[in-house]
Amino acid sequence: VGLETDDPLIYRATVSPERQAAFEVTTGRSETYASLDDAVGRGAALIAELVGHAAPSQRIAYLGRNSIDQIVVCLACQRAGHVFVPLNWRLGASELGQIVADCEPAVLLHDAEFAPVLGDIHQPLPRTVSVEGDGGWDDMLRSAKRAEPMPTEADAACIMLYTSGTTGSPKGVIITRRNAFASAVNFALVGEVTSRSVTLCDLPFFHTIGLVAIGRTTLTMGGRLVISDRFLPDRTLATLGDPELGVTHYFAVPQMASALRNAPAWDPSALKALQAIFIGGAPLSPALIEAFLEDGIPLVNGYGMSEAGTAIHMPLDRDAVARHPGSVGFPAPLLAVRLVGEDGQDVADGEVGEIWLKGPSVTPGYWNKPGETARAFVGDWYRTGDLGRRAEGGVIHVPDRLKDMYITGGENVFPAEIEAVIGAHPKVRDVAVLGLPDPKWGECGVAFIVAHVEAPSADEILAHCAERLASYKRPTRIVFLEQIPRTASGKAQKHILRQTHAEL
Ligand code: ATP
Ligand code: MG
Repeated sequence: VGLETDDPLIYRATVSPERQAAFEVTTGRSETYASLDDAVGRGAALIAELVGHAAPSQRIAYLGRNSIDQIVVCLACQRAGHVFVPLNWRLGASELGQIVADCEPAVLLHDAEFAPVLGDIHQPLPRTVSVEGDGGWDDMLRSAKRAEPMPTEADAACIMLYTSGTTGSPKGVIITRRNAFASAVNFALVGEVTSRSVTLCDLPFFHTIGLVAIGRTTLTMGGRLVISDRFLPDRTLATLGDPELGVTHYFAVPQMASALRNAPAWDPSALKALQAIFIGGAPLSPALIEAFLEDGIPLVNGYGMSEAGTAIHMPLDRDAVARHPGSVGFPAPLLAVRLVGEDGQDVADGEVGEIWLKGPSVTPGYWNKPGETARAFVGDWYRTGDLGRRAEGGVIHVPDRLKDMYITGGENVFPAEIEAVIGAHPKVRDVAVLGLPDPKWGECGVAFIVAHVEAPSADEILAHCAERLASYKRPTRIVFLEQIPRTASGKAQKHILRQTHAEL
């Protein structure tokens, strides 16, 4: 009998069965590689039964918090030849309804906690099964008999992830077994994840960082996956400082890192085993990197997306982080990267172009969206819609999204740079900058600001910008808001601001 190597657990259950694979912070539940593999084997049989032994590639939707159960269902879907579709539990009933209508799952598994939101969806739903309780997933799993794994087909889908919905409606990204395995290898290489790594995941599994990067990489490499069901700064700090756990790798979006550092319990000297905090998902301000470096903890920036996993990444190396502040690092080993100008040619070093990616972790396309798929690909190259610039030493900077860049009086402006400046003002709690039409300059910058308790005046903000930014980069208008619309991972949804402030 051979080993089916792209199944993260079969290999590990053979070579390190007694090692702890997963641990739940909230409940204390843990599983070894052998027991997790056993649960996945029985889960695969249960999935097959739940879908009525239908043809392969049925979608299995899952609405639930991070948990060992969710990992079991994800890997069981793959082993049964079906597709795991984790749903964003921050969405409301109508948004969830749209996604369910789009992916047409055969079954929808959910935490008991989310039964009410499902009840509010006014459209036919597939069979819903609670994870907990009598007759629920856990209950049925106990009596299920282990299934033999389906033969490996590298091009078969095993996960479908919906994008964050930062620029519009979320799109279903098809992730094949090859994609998932290549993503894990890429992340293991750049993040130095090994069987001795202990990773803490409180980013939701419905995004690529949580499930594909952290979750699957840790299990593929035989490390220990510490699972938390939500981000609470004090609890996260306590978990990171727990000597029994010895967390070596922690992952956050920029806002989480800044919340940790501002928490009263912040004490970097307590984080003894921690090698780095890995950051991704949105632009990271150089000021935050510097602050963490002073505390002795590198913020290792990385750039990726649902469509390609980890793509460009800083190595886990304090000196590199200090030497290239604000950069997202080097292309990951399994990916080819091009920076392409408007004329379709590669731009010179130092110039800004669109990031194109090619490699085994890149999705074959979007579910149900042939038009979007056609627009996103040029041959095998995936056009990310993000801007990149190659700097000295070969590191890449991601100034912003192509869609968000605006042109004022002929000059390109990257809102992320202005947001970093305004966001560093002590009276500013949150900020988003947008280019809006202007009769004289073509477009002009408008800064949407959420104030701290003590609000700054517009003049204070303009003076702050005048000291730090070239004149064409300074916003011409300041709009104070109660809050900025953001996705679950904290990204500003500028298309919503654009709609609601079209009259400006
Ligand atoms: P949608 O595609 O629905 O608009 P989204 O692009 O935000 O949403 P994700 O796939 O979750 O959905 O996020 C990937 C995007 O996040 C990238 O394309 C890029 O714009 C941004 N991003 C990721 N990492 C970084 C980073 N380190 N620096 C700047 N931007 C980043
Ligand atoms: Mg996107």
